[in-house]
Amino acid sequence: MLTLAIESTAHTFGVAVLKEENILSNETHTFTTEKGGMIPNLVADHHKKYKNIVLEAALKKANTNLEQIDIVAYSNAPGLAPALMVGRDFAKELNKPLVGVNHIVAHLEIGLKTTKAQDPIFVFTSGANTQIIAHEGGKYRVFGEALSIAVGNALDKLGRELELGFPAGPKIEQIAKKGKFIQLPYKVKGMDVEFSGILTKAMDLYQKGASKEDICFSFQETCFAMLAEVTERALAHCEKDEILLIGGVARNKRFSEMLNTMAEERNAKAYTVPFEYAGDNAAMIGYLGYLQYKANKKTETKPDFYPRQRIDEIETFWKS
Ligand code: AMP
Ligand code: MG
Repeated sequence: MLTLAIESTAHTFGVAVLKEENILSNETHTFTTEKGGMIPNLVADHHKKYKNIVLEAALKKANTNLEQIDIVAYSNAPGLAPALMVGRDFAKELNKPLVGVNHIVAHLEIGLKTTKAQDPIFVFTSGANTQIIAHEGGKYRVFGEALSIAVGNALDKLGRELELGFPAGPKIEQIAKKGKFIQLPYKVKGMDVEFSGILTKAMDLYQKGASKEDICFSFQETCFAMLAEVTERALAHCEKDEILLIGGVARNKRFSEMLNTMAEERNAKAYTVPFEYAGDNAAMIGYLGYLQYKANKKTETKPDFYPRQRIDEIETFWKS
């Protein structure tokens, strides 16, 4: 059975082809800028411009064609409404049975598929989300989160100030390697983290002459230490002994290393999703779409999208 998958929740338009659980292709095209941030309507225009190119590339790489495809899985939540709409409409145009997939749950499931983690505390850090998650009672539940902006967003906003373009996370990681530590506000409230004060202070220090290197280094160290602290607390609270780092910010080596160190000290094991499946991608949508379809054989009668859906609204019926 062949599943074609479409990802379009935010900056990335992706198409993947899977044969049952095996990923045959995973193509993406990502909206980027030299200076500014991500504007929803421009992102939607980007997706419209590249959708057919990405589709053709994914079919070609999988050595197949549209006729062979059995079902189409598409990301239906959460995300930017104009971007979600492009994906949903494109999925409808393909005239196949459709399966709608929650993008965040897909990030979690691809992490489980591609690592040895069994029942971890998920550290989900992407552009729009920062959540500490665990699976309990038939649902994924959020135990802690960023109260104002997500860590990826905070990195991208800092990057805008430093004129690094979008996405800024990878550039900040490189620049940080030459920096020294400057104190920044460290804000953990129970299981939650707050990044807006750090952002304001870092931008202020940059305006006053601190170097890009020192700002990037200190920003990363502070944000990642806060996340390591709440992850440690979640391990104890949920009585788990595995951590799984997923989402675009999981590509950051320093972050992964800090979680590893914390895990070792507690006799826990930390895993990081492979680079290709860390940021937004369609393979994860296809994988979860296939799991859902295999479990309940249901397809969408009225394909819709849900920009603000939360993961604890979803019953994980595909898990035994
Ligand atoms: P996602 O929405 O899951 O695709 O994640 C995108 C976010 O990941 C953006 O905010 C990027 O800046 C961030 N990101 C990507 N690579 C890195 C990296 N190496 N270090 C830190 N953040 C990163
Ligand atoms: Mg994402």
